[in-house]
Amino acid sequence: MNKKCIICGESASLMIKDTNDYYCEDCAVDNFDDISSLVRVEEQAKKLKHIVDDFENKQNEYKEPVDPNEIVDQYEEVKDRIEKEE
Ligand SMILES: [Zn+2]
Repeated sequence: MNKKCIICGESASLMIKDTNDYYCEDCAVDNFDDISSLVRVEEQAKKLKHIVDDFENKQNEYKEPVDPNEIVDQYEEVKDRIEKEE
């Protein structure tokens, strides 16, 4: 989740919803009158973090690799859920 600002290349903390346009705080303020229309990258990352924790727990529990496709499926599921919430 290390996204870069599309203007200056610094690490981005904001993005336009449903796009791949990422901005750092400074560029977002420079380019948008109202940055509340932008989504915080960390918030999405936070919502997805528990999936990664889950994945690691599972791996420790079973002592064998978990199918990465399973994580991709769960990721898509949570992404859909987040989009419906908003
Ligand atoms: Zn920037």
